Amino acid sequence: MSDCLFCKIIAGDVPATKVEHDDLVVIQDINPQAPLHLLIIPRRHISTLNDLTPEDDALVGSMFRLAASIAQKHQHGERGYRTVFNTNRAAGQSVFHIHLHLLAGRDLTWPPG
Ligand code: AMP
Ligand code: ZN
Repeated sequence: MSDCLFCKIIAGDVPATKVEHDDLVVIQDINPQAPLHLLIIPRRHISTLNDLTPEDDALVGSMFRLAASIAQKHQHGERGYRTVFNTNRAAGQSVFHIHLHLLAGRDLTWPPG
């Protein structure tokens, strides 16, 4: 998708601190909401969770498994961390290429705003 920010970051056309995996890329959120705030992004453009198909089940599973392994690697596994997908306007989605937020390093309130 030529006008998608995350497709541009994945292609290297927009700079970001990123770690490459097979089907996923992990970047640091530019406006972090916690001491650790990463975005786990599939290389393939999918606009929202509403666009997932059964063929994407393994991809989405791998996003959560990567989030868990990164959280544990940063010593947040026991204390806790949050993983969030925002979908569409009411949830505050601002980049329409799915991404899993990984937030950790502080006590996170519930319910979220
Ligand atoms: P969402 O609002 O759930 O769509 O999340 C989009 C996230 O992307 C926000 O937390 C933004 O801070 C983050 N973001 C926007 N532009 C960039 C960028 N150039 N590099 C890294 N993160 C970004
Ligand atoms: Zn995209």
